[in-house]
Amino acid sequence: MSWVQVAVPRQFNHLFTYAIPEEWTAEQKQEVVRGRWVEVPFGKAVLSGCVVDTLESLPGPSTYEIRGLRFVHPVQTGLSSDVFEMCVWAHRYYQTSLGELLQCALPSPVLKAVVRRQARPEKRDTPTEGVSKPRTLFLNDDQTSAVKAVLSSEKPILLHGVTGSGKTEVYMDAARQVLAEGRTVLMLVPEIALTPQLHHRIEEGLGEPVALWHSALSDTARAKLWVQLREGSARVVVGARSAIFVPLENIGLIVVDEEHDASYKQEERARYHARDLAMFRGRACGARVVLGSATPSLETLERVRDGKFNTVHLQNRFGGASMPQIELVDLTSVEKREDSQALFADSTLRELADVLDRGEQAIVFLNRRGFASLLLCEDCGWTPECEHCSLSLTVYQRTRSLRCHVCNFRKGMPERCDSCQGHQFRFLGAGTESLETQLPTLIPSKTPARALRLDRDRVTSHTRLEKTLDSFRRGEFNLLLGTQMLVKGHDFPNVTLVVIVLADGLFRFPDFRASERAYQILTQVSGRAGRAERAGKVLIQTFQPGHPVLEVLTGKKSVEEWMRSEADLRREFHYPPYYRMARVRVESQKQEEARAGAERLADSLVAEKYVETDRCELLGPSEAPVGRVKAHYRWDLWIKSSRIEFLHQALTLMLRQPISKSCRVHVDVDPQGP
Ligand code: ADP
Ligand code: ZN
Ligand code: ZN
Repeated sequence: MSWVQVAVPRQFNHLFTYAIPEEWTAEQKQEVVRGRWVEVPFGKAVLSGCVVDTLESLPGPSTYEIRGLRFVHPVQTGLSSDVFEMCVWAHRYYQTSLGELLQCALPSPVLKAVVRRQARPEKRDTPTEGVSKPRTLFLNDDQTSAVKAVLSSEKPILLHGVTGSGKTEVYMDAARQVLAEGRTVLMLVPEIALTPQLHHRIEEGLGEPVALWHSALSDTARAKLWVQLREGSARVVVGARSAIFVPLENIGLIVVDEEHDASYKQEERARYHARDLAMFRGRACGARVVLGSATPSLETLERVRDGKFNTVHLQNRFGGASMPQIELVDLTSVEKREDSQALFADSTLRELADVLDRGEQAIVFLNRRGFASLLLCEDCGWTPECEHCSLSLTVYQRTRSLRCHVCNFRKGMPERCDSCQGHQFRFLGAGTESLETQLPTLIPSKTPARALRLDRDRVTSHTRLEKTLDSFRRGEFNLLLGTQMLVKGHDFPNVTLVVIVLADGLFRFPDFRASERAYQILTQVSGRAGRAERAGKVLIQTFQPGHPVLEVLTGKKSVEEWMRSEADLRREFHYPPYYRMARVRVESQKQEEARAGAERLADSLVAEKYVETDRCELLGPSEAPVGRVKAHYRWDLWIKSSRIEFLHQALTLMLRQPISKSCRVHVDVDPQGP
């Protein structure tokens, strides 16, 4: 008799033991090996799980009945060892369910499709033909040296290049050489940058069909693609974070573009950071790994500093284009319009008018959707909140509705105040919808302003995003108003002015990375200006013109100097990259139980003297920044340690604590936000 340990796709941190049925044939039994998918009974359900270990004997008498495996899925569903071991690593590192991670590598609809396909092997897709001959890439000297550095680096390498320096051309040239060696290429980009335009650009540059892998693929399309990759009929994949799990074999190059981007971290269910998984997978399959950014994360810069990564720079824009000129507009001292939701200095409006009158285009950035941030009763100060979350509702004037940006709860605009029955309301704060209706009337130009809004309310798919960007590029509009969606690598040659409505919101974010993120976002948005022969200008409106990030952007302070002081702060207050951090969040529909659960976990660490011996620091329990989401109360604990092993030990200890059944515990190692 022998047994196996199986990871099931549920939120458990441990494995489940099953027996290999005695009556199976020797061949059947031999199929039960690490990495194979099997079907198992689980409670009243039947699930597909993945074999992690086989056991010759049971570790001890079991307290529950050990059930038998139902059957083994065909070998074609098995994961390659680099992907499997990457999942095992991520499971240990992020203390997240192995079964759920393995499911990222083989989602259930894909598993079903692969099994169905094995039953009908005749219906095989023929590999797609090559697209065309690759476009000739003429690299400048800096790009040529960057490609050499990437290809010859034994360690992962940071490609640190200013916006518009031509990092994509470097990836493409390196990719071509890797393909010529007969190896494959995996390129990760932030979800939002994954447009048809980028897809075409890369296909054209490589002269090779490029498979796209992203969250919006249908189950059928995803399954089909998975099988194609597994059978080796595509050699290049471009995808968002989950593409790090694709079954591509013989990878020779992994690119992580915009490596600083927070969207590489998956924050729900299986938590992982795709950039860090890329390091593991690169090592496991002997691939070069290149991380690209104009504004690298402090984590990556620290790895460069301590010699774990190499680095190569692109200091100039491609083709001699100049960097945009950045100016601050100090809202504390200038004349401004007070009659719209967003504040605009008269001078900003005049500059926008000049741009439109010259027949050029402008981008206006505001990181908030909707018309106003909240509705306020003028008589008593009442503000409508979401029924399920502790958040105020955002005002949408066009549809006369209020909406929660976390859970999507909606209701109509109230006629009267809930609290005092008053009916005088005021809108506070500004969003992109207010810019769309109000900004065109404020700009004193002869040429009418034709405004196009770009945000997640309007653009819900990659195709829609591409259409929106195309119509702006074609000049049907002269003003593009948007949120962070317009930050990522889109090129608009006719844009000569970028306006940042209010930088201050970015600094106020309650997170130790707020300054770093603000710098990254402002640099990216500014980078949209003046990409062709025309010089570009950026106006940043702010009430805090002395903020260090703004001093860096305007050249009053060097990036290096600011980074050093930022790093000193992190070191002093024990934050990453110098300290490792984890957030333990306890959720329950009952406020009291969530709090008690978090306290119990905290006490367990104190009791084991984990905190006193300097191995770990413990912060909290405290109510989460958004204390209630979708009717669940949330209490947080933060653990910090100079060593990841101590952090892991503390988490293991905590997760063993029994707490109320009404509570769910979520662990997030290296959290990217509050
Ligand atoms: P980055 O990703 O560094 O911001 P891109 O790769 O998007 O920059 O390049 C910026 C612009 O310069 C793009 O329009 C791109 O087509 C152009 N470009 C960059 N390198 C080359 C090259 N070697 N030949 C032709 N055009 C290039
Ligand atoms: Zn009131
Ligand atoms: Zn809500």
